[in-house]
Amino acid sequence: MQKFSIWSLLRNSMSYHEGWGRQWRSPEPRREYDVVIVGAGGHGLATAYYLAKEHGIKNVAVVERGYLGGGNTARNTTIVRSNYLWDEATALYEKAMQLWEGLSQDLNYNVMFSQRGVMNLGHTLQDMRDIERRVTANRLNGVDAEVVTPAQIKEMIPFINLNTRYPVLGASLQRRAGVARHDAVAWGFARAADALGVDIIQNCEVTGIRRENGAVAGVDTAKGFIRAKKVALIAAGHSSVVASMAGIRLPIESHPLQALVSEPLKPIFPNVVMSNAIHAYISQSDKGDLVIGAGIDQYAGYGQRGSYHTIEHTLQAIVEMFPLFSRVRMNRQWGGIVDVSPDACPIISLTPVKGLYVDCGWGTGGFKATPGSGWVMAHTVAQDRPHALNEAFALDRFYSGHLIDEHGAAAVAH
Ligand SMILES: Cc1cc2nc3c(=O)[nH]c(=O)nc-3n(C[C@H](O)[C@H](O)[C@H](O)COP(=O)(O)OP(=O)(O)OC[C@H]3O[C@@H](n4cnc5c(N)ncnc54)[C@H](O)[C@@H]3O)c2cc1C
Repeated sequence: MQKFSIWSLLRNSMSYHEGWGRQWRSPEPRREYDVVIVGAGGHGLATAYYLAKEHGIKNVAVVERGYLGGGNTARNTTIVRSNYLWDEATALYEKAMQLWEGLSQDLNYNVMFSQRGVMNLGHTLQDMRDIERRVTANRLNGVDAEVVTPAQIKEMIPFINLNTRYPVLGASLQRRAGVARHDAVAWGFARAADALGVDIIQNCEVTGIRRENGAVAGVDTAKGFIRAKKVALIAAGHSSVVASMAGIRLPIESHPLQALVSEPLKPIFPNVVMSNAIHAYISQSDKGDLVIGAGIDQYAGYGQRGSYHTIEHTLQAIVEMFPLFSRVRMNRQWGGIVDVSPDACPIISLTPVKGLYVDCGWGTGGFKATPGSGWVMAHTVAQDRPHALNEAFALDRFYSGHLIDEHGAAAVAH
């Protein structure tokens, strides 16, 4: 792997930066691997990286039907935080947060992680009680969290309108939370995994999963059959589709989730503001665009777009809270397909088929977990048993009833 440093930048500047090589290979699939990962989103690529780095398992292929990082990883609004309510979820997302804090150095790739703070607004007395409960739970778990008053919010964002149709009574604030650059996360993991010997095979849809004697035997793909001892399904909105190829029915609903960005503005928005009650959240990208996210479209589907009334509803709320933005033009809008589980928590689990694993159900909030998800999934696949951090997120919780209900903390979109 070509190392990025001030010296390599200087050296390459001598040749007008025309000498940089490709950042990862584009190999043809081999006939057999120790592990095949279905889906080259951030989670699949992170799993491959940690399999190679932490567990020495390098005979790995990541098989992707489109281009790497082109699914929800490319479509999300990049909010990263770890202030969930329950101990299990907090521990998992906080592990991810700690990995984020050293990720650019670890990958030797700038993922532009910016800890600018995330606020979740409260508009009713009950909202504020929930916020206070969650902040207390976060602190007991060693996660930074505080309750801020309307005056403190106004000090941070002077142009916010606190006396809206939904008056702002306060907010939770996690200062270590923030945003990262989504493409860079996928590219950084891809480059580092490739350097450790992982094959990333793009434009290669998985069309079937073969089993022999109750165990996984490999995957049928657009480029032929690939034999594998272990197969990890990490396909986000298409998880139910790929799992059904192995006869497994997942408790997942796939919904469109939309986002949009404005024309670029000079730096104005200092942090991230989310409001569950009015289904809208906003931040500003390093390019200057306002990045705005919505709630899920309520119908299930696989079209990567959504309906206009959802965007209209979201923009009404944004303009109500930030009247200053009423004349800002919106540049682009898009949708992804999110994998919503019944308790708004992920499924990181062994399955009834030996050697077959799933990592899905992240719904509207999996980007923030990318490194943590890869880290625990790599452990689960390598050791054939969950790590302590993902033990509670197994499939069997939907039979036992041990759900971890994070609907309150999963924020805007569920
Ligand atoms: C509009 C929007 C906003 C969001 N905002 C946030 C946010 O602010 N913060 C946050 O934490 N999360 C957010 N999310 C959620 C987040 O994007 C996802 O949870 C996360 O990116 C999931 O990563 P992944 O790698 O599992 O999935 P993906 O990036 O979707 O990767 C899955 C891959 O599997 C591939 N695949 C599917 N079927 C097959 C097949 N048969 N064969 C081969 N490959 C296949 C797909 O092509 C895809 O590339 C948002 C999502 C959307 C859509």
